[in-house]
Amino acid sequence: MSILVVGSVAFDTIETPFGRAERVLGGAASYFSVAASFFTHVNFVGVVGRDFGEQAMNAFRGRDIDLAGLERTDGETFHWKGRYSYNLNERTTVCTALNVFESFKPRLPASYRASEYVFLGNIDPVLQLDVLGQTERPRFVACDTMNFWIAGKPDELRETLKRVDVLLINDGEARELSGEWNVVKAARAIRALGPKILVVKKGEHGVLMFTEDGSFAAPAYPLEQVFDPTGAGDTFAGGFLGFLAESRSTGDEALRRAVIMGSTLASFAVEAFGLERLLALTRREIDERFRLFKKLTHFEEL
Ligand code: AMP
Repeated sequence: MSILVVGSVAFDTIETPFGRAERVLGGAASYFSVAASFFTHVNFVGVVGRDFGEQAMNAFRGRDIDLAGLERTDGETFHWKGRYSYNLNERTTVCTALNVFESFKPRLPASYRASEYVFLGNIDPVLQLDVLGQTERPRFVACDTMNFWIAGKPDELRETLKRVDVLLINDGEARELSGEWNVVKAARAIRALGPKILVVKKGEHGVLMFTEDGSFAAPAYPLEQVFDPTGAGDTFAGGFLGFLAESRSTGDEALRRAVIMGSTLASFAVEAFGLERLLALTRREIDERFRLFKKLTHFEEL
């Protein structure tokens, strides 16, 4: 099984109440790929500039990540700068320099076209649809988006959503996309747009999943130290989809486990700045925390 991912590759400058990191490797596709590669083969599609050196490339090397679709063009790599206050659920974007990302036209190497799973990271919905058009009947398509596209390209986004199996967004975005304040009503409205499955991310308050079989809730793993929430959503998506690909099922049981696996991976991502913790992670540590998650939420019936 292989997963095709398209999304941003970035240098991030991050400020939190606990410290600051300058131009560290980030971007949705980076977090997603590293997380998903613990479970299955990843076909990476993205763009970087000439400033993207060996040290940054080394983060992806030695993992099950194919980099044939990582384009390098003249110019600088996408740079994002964000700041968090003590409420780590809220962040302010200080600056976004799109650089080479601005004229990004994803082109799939021939060897990627038969990828069974697809993750459309948070990019222009027109490009998301274009990527899908270059694939050969994937089994399962997952998609992320943000307010910028919900407000800016609503019709194009709806076209993309018609071809998506699972949409992963945060609660604010779910409200904006559906026009419904109540998250259950929002889920019903969004599922009518195409995605049979909706995953609503609520930061430190966990995740809600809505499917045709009902709903499923998972808390965020209670950590003593949350250092940097950047990338938690994309890391969740990588663990979620990677696990589904590994288990070769998209049934209700597999989906529930995938939500816990996504939450497990995300809980590691936030323990250090940028990708630092994920890059040092082992499958053994992942499986151990997955087990602790079961204990955390298990109770007996009356
Ligand atoms: P997350 O915290 O999961 O929402 O994702 C954080 C990552 O998204 C960071 O590493 C940023 O580089 C990247 N990012 C920030 N703004 C954008 C944008 N407008 N388009 C694509 N990626 C972005």
